[in-house]
Amino acid sequence: MSYGRDVYDKALARLKERHDVCTMKANERRRALSEVNPRFGEIEAELRATSSGLFAALLSDKGMDAFNSVMEKNKALRAEREKLLADAGLDAHFLDDVYACSECRDEYYIDGKMCSCLKKELRAAAYEKLNASTRLKLTSFDDFDLGYYSDEIDETLGESPRSRMTDVLAFVKRYADEIKTRRDSLLFTGGTGLGKTHLSLAVAKEATDAGLGVIYDSVPSLMMKLENERFGRGDDGFCEAVCSCDLLILDDLGAEHSTAATRTFLYTIVNSRIMSELPTIISTNLSVSELSERYSDAVYSRLSGDYTPIWFCGSDIRLKKKLGIK
Ligand SMILES: [Zn+2]
Repeated sequence: MSYGRDVYDKALARLKERHDVCTMKANERRRALSEVNPRFGEIEAELRATSSGLFAALLSDKGMDAFNSVMEKNKALRAEREKLLADAGLDAHFLDDVYACSECRDEYYIDGKMCSCLKKELRAAAYEKLNASTRLKLTSFDDFDLGYYSDEIDETLGESPRSRMTDVLAFVKRYADEIKTRRDSLLFTGGTGLGKTHLSLAVAKEATDAGLGVIYDSVPSLMMKLENERFGRGDDGFCEAVCSCDLLILDDLGAEHSTAATRTFLYTIVNSRIMSELPTIISTNLSVSELSERYSDAVYSRLSGDYTPIWFCGSDIRLKKKLGIK
């Protein structure tokens, strides 16, 4: 993925913030230690003076002799500091500078190549930007309350909604735990307010925490962005990001205004992600037969053949939550 200036600025600002925290900690250590034993502070000051005295020594009449004598003094000061640290039972590196990234020492590039710390931060900033308009509020599996599902046997299900949803929760949780290695996709089906969005967002949270690039959007909003990109009004590269992100989560399939273009977009996304073995979770209120009526054979055969269907059941939880009943 290529990144815009704003993404770079955001990533670098975050890394700088982390670097500043480390510097503050190191300075605080030095200050605290000097309070206990002022000799530490004196050595620091003397070391600074010898460092800046090196050039002056080289340029002086005595040249190398003066230089060597400053170097000797510097060495002696370091040895003294090391001994003082050992006497205090502290590590020899206790007063060293502290870096947020030990690989690049907060330079963000190593031999001209971008360090993994900057790569990771750029990726995170880019995905935040992609999800900014969806106001992604991540939920967790822990606050998924099975108590809202009835424990009375449902004749058509042959079990209670609670028992079915216990299995659904366990399945989706395992999927999220294994998200870094999963290649398969899920199709969440069932009416409004049965917890599809909650579990999708919980998977998104696990994946984001695992460092994966996640795009979450509703199908109508996604289609609008793709249309905008097609006519040069939106962010370049959005379609590419949707097709290539580590995990794509699409809510509310079937709520979009269906046109030839949206159907093509949908097929392209679904098909390219299956071909690239990238996981996708799609939620829909439509039944399987409604899906087959609404979408082309090509899309329907992908969704029915390549996605694992997860049926959500019960009665509208959002309503129950609002009314405060279980
Ligand atoms: Zn680094």
